[in-house]
Amino acid sequence: MVSPLKYVRPNILALSPYSTARDEFKGGDISVFIDANESPFRTGFNRYPDPRHRRLKERIAALKGVEADNVFIGGAGSDEAIDLIYRIFCEPGIDNVVAMSPTYGVYSVAAAINNVEYREVDPGADFAFPVEAALAAADAHTKVIWVCSPNNPTGLAVPVEDIIRLADSFDGIVAVDEAYIDFSPVASALPLIASHPNIIVLQTFSKAWGLANLRVGLAFSDPRIAALFANVKYPYNLNGPTQREILRQLDRDITPQVETIKAERERVASELAKYPCIERIYPSDANFLLVKVDDADRLYDHLVSRGVLVRNRNRVPHCAGMLRITIGTPSENRLMLAAIADYCHMPAPADDAPQSSARTATVIRHTNETDIEIHIDLDGDPSASVIDTGLKFFDHMLSQLPHHGGFALDILCRGDLQVDEHHTMEDVAIALGDAIRIALGDKRGIERYGFVLPMDESRAMVLIDLGGRIDFQWDVTFDREYVGDTPTEMFKHFFQSLASSLKANLHISARGENCHHIVEGIFKATARALKAAIRRDQFSHSLPSSKGII
Ligand SMILES: *Cc1c(COP(=O)(O)O)cnc(C)c1O
Repeated sequence: MVSPLKYVRPNILALSPYSTARDEFKGGDISVFIDANESPFRTGFNRYPDPRHRRLKERIAALKGVEADNVFIGGAGSDEAIDLIYRIFCEPGIDNVVAMSPTYGVYSVAAAINNVEYREVDPGADFAFPVEAALAAADAHTKVIWVCSPNNPTGLAVPVEDIIRLADSFDGIVAVDEAYIDFSPVASALPLIASHPNIIVLQTFSKAWGLANLRVGLAFSDPRIAALFANVKYPYNLNGPTQREILRQLDRDITPQVETIKAERERVASELAKYPCIERIYPSDANFLLVKVDDADRLYDHLVSRGVLVRNRNRVPHCAGMLRITIGTPSENRLMLAAIADYCHMPAPADDAPQSSARTATVIRHTNETDIEIHIDLDGDPSASVIDTGLKFFDHMLSQLPHHGGFALDILCRGDLQVDEHHTMEDVAIALGDAIRIALGDKRGIERYGFVLPMDESRAMVLIDLGGRIDFQWDVTFDREYVGDTPTEMFKHFFQSLASSLKANLHISARGENCHHIVEGIFKATARALKAAIRRDQFSHSLPSSKGII
């Protein structure tokens, strides 16, 4: 069996890698760490992280059934591993790689950055990977064949026999990118690294694990290649909080979520098939569907106008007229299907999905003034909520919503607080209203109304009707301009913005002596009112209106 080192660039083979202070420390009873020019003052982050990610590697190895020395962990997602593969194997200006077209765009961009020729071969039927064409395109200077399985954006996985045939026939590296393998019925190529030292398998935490924000990707290979990944990577490519967070996240069981996505993929595909504007739905082993439509740009614009963002692949080779639709939560998928139905002038699909379907929504909004990410799960665990807008008092008030509303709510916002609080509070209100409205979906089975009247020396009364008509009444006076770091006048604006994006009728009145308590009373009362309004009526799956629509 050939050594995979045969394919490595001579300068990389000869490299004596950078050795960090922590690499040189072989262990011992040390209490004074003055070896790395770190600050001795505690910030929570003043010490360098483990450059070799030992604990994490062992945990991942155990999870995947390989050895720790088969594992490379990338700190910029698997995109880091893709770039490293070029740098380890491909001599700039001399070597080339082969890939199917269309496929994941990073392979060709990373080739261009590294000045490596990128050879494309056409796909087979249904976008199957063209094994023979890829082998035929390879020559003495071909170092890597890229195999994306399941392929992005087309969806099909590559059978393991095809990977074996490539690895047996090709005198070079077969890089198998399995970003979507958790959604696929086709087996992973991972076990092949033991028998085929020229196979590298890439995986990521960004898709099925739901950790795209952490930017952690994986490469599994023969230990000789994994050692080269470790030598060529930036010394501290994975920060400490990320290493700890991944270790914590690995205790989760992702199976239920993966199963939901797979079931939704089939449901969405069968719904889409009913619409005349959808000309073809490609078979998918991933968490998305590639569809050919009558007019991709027009449908794309229509979906955007309905607040639904898909990926327009119209200008990608072999993908003219196509959109790539990621499978969302059941309620997100319902909104997407309703928007497509509307485009086709057809009624929205009959909603026979069980009411136990997830009532969740994600709203991501980046503007010049604010970057906001909100996630809500109306049936989720309130104690898992994370709220951070940079305004302490506002955060304290917002955190009343999940606790008293009985839902899970994450709000992350970074706004132009150096200007003032206005955009942060307004944009959070708008995004929060959108999130609640989207999570409620068509509102089938909810109670619709709620009201409550607490608390303290102050009293707050909040009436809410999620019926779809916007009205806002505010009868509150404050005798101070600020509570903590938050201007009191902004609360009226906050609730007004919330009412309009939620499309709700919201009446708020409050009296009291202490501004803090008045605001707190309003937030708690709003949360209680929401809790009552969004609660599912156990006995009714119908719409809570005599007109049948709200
Ligand atoms: C999303 C994706 C990745 C990127 O993963 P990161 O780990 O987030 O960099 C890799 N390959 C394919 C095919 C993808 O679609």
